[in-house]
Amino acid sequence: MDPFAAPPDFPPRSPLVRECTACGACCSAPDIHALGKPLGVPCVHLGRDCLCAVYMTRPAVCRNYQPDWVCGEVAPLPSLEARVQRFLEIYGLEEEAYGT
Ligand code: SF4
Ligand code: SF4
Repeated sequence: MDPFAAPPDFPPRSPLVRECTACGACCSAPDIHALGKPLGVPCVHLGRDCLCAVYMTRPAVCRNYQPDWVCGEVAPLPSLEARVQRFLEIYGLEEEAYGT
């Protein structure tokens, strides 16, 4: 299965993205236990430029993360906040993250 193809019940809103554009969403939206990072909060190592400040020594969970169709949904959005919101929405985690 093409990891960049959105699921059939999830019509994509954005153009297909096939590579990481360093949008910062996956460093901000999910919880990352290895880093003690909660949902919806940017990693402490994420720079203002959305690049990783500890890239060479980042944990395995970060090294192993692969871009997929979700990147196409989040990366084109205009702000990190919007990208995080969409990422959480896709995974049904908004309520857990924001308590709304
Ligand atoms: S969400 Fe996708 S495009 Fe954005 S930083 Fe992560 S892998 Fe890269
Ligand atoms: S350690 Fe680096 S790659 Fe991993 S979540 Fe934090 S900023 Fe992203």
